Amino acid sequence: MTCKGICHHYKATWISQTLRYANGQKKCVICDVFVKYEGRFCPCCGRRLRNKPRTSKGKQMFVEQKMGLRKV
Ligand SMILES: [Zn+2]
Ligand SMILES: [Zn+2]
Repeated sequence: MTCKGICHHYKATWISQTLRYANGQKKCVICDVFVKYEGRFCPCCGRRLRNKPRTSKGKQMFVEQKMGLRKV
């Protein structure tokens, strides 16, 4: 489980720290990179991607942003 550099092909564009998850971006903690990738596992190292914020405050914002995004 190491970074092979493949994740950089999927690297997500910077939005904001809190908007990323709501926009479908996922974080690989091994590669330490946000990717725009449909699968549940990192295409690079095979580690499961994190698709939600960890903190309760982050989760709250995540839900609000999701609802906000849907309206647009
Ligand atoms: Zn990687
Ligand atoms: Zn990875």
